Amino acid sequence: MRLLIMGPPGAGKGTQAAILCDRIGIPHISTGDLFRANLAQGTPLGQEAKKYMDAGEYVPDSVTNGMVRERLKSQDSANGFLLDGYPRTVAQVAELDGMLGGKGLDKVIELTADTDEVVARLINRAAEQGRADDTEEIIRHRLDVYTEQTAPLTALYASRGQLIKVDGLGSVEEVTARISDALSK
Ligand code: AMP
Repeated sequence: MRLLIMGPPGAGKGTQAAILCDRIGIPHISTGDLFRANLAQGTPLGQEAKKYMDAGEYVPDSVTNGMVRERLKSQDSANGFLLDGYPRTVAQVAELDGMLGGKGLDKVIELTADTDEVVARLINRAAEQGRADDTEEIIRHRLDVYTEQTAPLTALYASRGQLIKVDGLGSVEEVTARISDALSK
């Protein structure tokens, strides 16, 4: 299973991705997590990424693509994986197509969620995690960037017949059940 999960920030991608990977037994490849791990370890890549992440901007492709290419070379992703947060732009889709060669993605899950709902969730998360720099303004900017640069990818994957749209509202269990259902069809 080669999967991708998409959706606006705050839609619950990370939570659902972790549950699915556990169930299916495939690695969860989250570019946000990879950047945060680099940041925690103080690597040059992490320091470079931080400038963009703090501002709610996308990290440049020159940094992001190489990181994903390296990760996908690991033995654990040979039999499948779930990508979370990559690709996020049309240019990254082309890069990923190249990395995967003839073996494209099997399914692309799009978690949908209402803007006001995700803004409320993200403001809550920022408060819980003590991320005072994650202001409502930056949160709304992240959503605008998603709408402009990433949302168009769903039409592209739909045209390839890979897209499954799943309502991201409801309890974690409800959403997991919807995704499992859609994947088994
Ligand atoms: P996430 O945890 O997926 O919301 O990612 C956190 C941040 O990492 C994003 O707001 C971006 O700054 C950066 N990031 C993650 N994935 C990508 C990507 N595919 N391209 C560019 N920047 C990314």
